[in-house]
Amino acid sequence: MKYDLAVTIDKASGFCFGVVYAIDMAEDILDHEEYLYCLGDIVHNDEEVSRLKAKGLRIIDHDQLHELRNEKVLIRAHGEAPSTYQLALENGLTLIDASCPVVLKLQNRIKNSHDDEEQILIFGKHGHAEVIGLQGQTDGKAIVFQDLAELDQVELPSKFTLYSQTTKSTDKFYHIKDQLIGRGYDVKANDTICRQVSNRYGDLEKFVVNFDKILFVSGKKSSNGKVLYDVCKKHNDHSYFISNLEEIELDWLAPGDRVGICGATSTPMWLMEQVKAKLESY
Ligand code: SF4
Repeated sequence: MKYDLAVTIDKASGFCFGVVYAIDMAEDILDHEEYLYCLGDIVHNDEEVSRLKAKGLRIIDHDQLHELRNEKVLIRAHGEAPSTYQLALENGLTLIDASCPVVLKLQNRIKNSHDDEEQILIFGKHGHAEVIGLQGQTDGKAIVFQDLAELDQVELPSKFTLYSQTTKSTDKFYHIKDQLIGRGYDVKANDTICRQVSNRYGDLEKFVVNFDKILFVSGKKSSNGKVLYDVCKKHNDHSYFISNLEEIELDWLAPGDRVGICGATSTPMWLMEQVKAKLESY
C-alpha cells in the first residue's frame, strides 16, 4: 500500500541564531584544523553532534577540561560560569567563546543583581548548562527551582528578584510570578525568556492546525524542544515526538494524511528534510 502523504516542513523551525553562530564558529575552525574541543554537547541534538564529531569536534566535560593544557576549547551557546574562564587562564587554554549574546546579557543582569545584593531566584532546570552558568554569576547563591512545589521546601526571603532560564515556557513563568506575588512576596520579576523560542509558540500554533499529523523532531535533552512539543500537542492532538528517522512509526499515519514537520531551536534542517524524504517514500 502506498501512503501518498502530503508532507510540509515548518519554515520557521530549526536552529536559532545562537546555535547557528556556535556551529558556524566550530566549522570555520574545523575547516583549517584537525580537531577542536567543545565543552559539552555543542547542541542538544545527537544527530548534529555526530555530524560535527566526524569533522573533528571533540566533546569534553568539565573533568576532562581540567586535564587539558594549551588547547583551544569552544564554549557553546549556553555559556559558562566565571570559574571556567578562570580555569582557562590558569591552564593556558584559548577559549573560543560562542556563548549566545542573549545568554551573555542575562548572565550580566544576574551578576549586576548579585552585586547589588539582591536575593535571586532562577526558574530553570537543575543541572542544565545554562543554569549552571547563570548561578555561577552569584557565587552559587541564587536559588534555582523547576516548579513552585520545590519552593515549598525552601525558606524564601520576603523580597527577591526572579529570573528565568532563556528556554522556559512564558506561561509557566507568569503563572509562577503571579502565585508568588499572591503569597505575599515582594517580587521583582524579569521575563528573560528568549524570543527566538517564545515567538515560535504563535507560529507553531498556526502551523500545526493545518495538518492531520505532526512529527516534532528534537533531541530528548533539548529544553525548548519539550516546551515547543507541548505547544504542538496542545493544538494538534496527533503530534508525535521523534529524535531520529528510526523512531517514526507507521501506525501513526493513514494514507493521504497531510503531515507537518517541525522542530526545536536545536533541530537541524537537514534532519527535518530526511524525515520528509522518509515519509514521502512510504
Ligand atoms: S534559544 Fe535564544 S538564548 Fe538560546 S541559544 Fe538560541 S538565541 Fe540564544
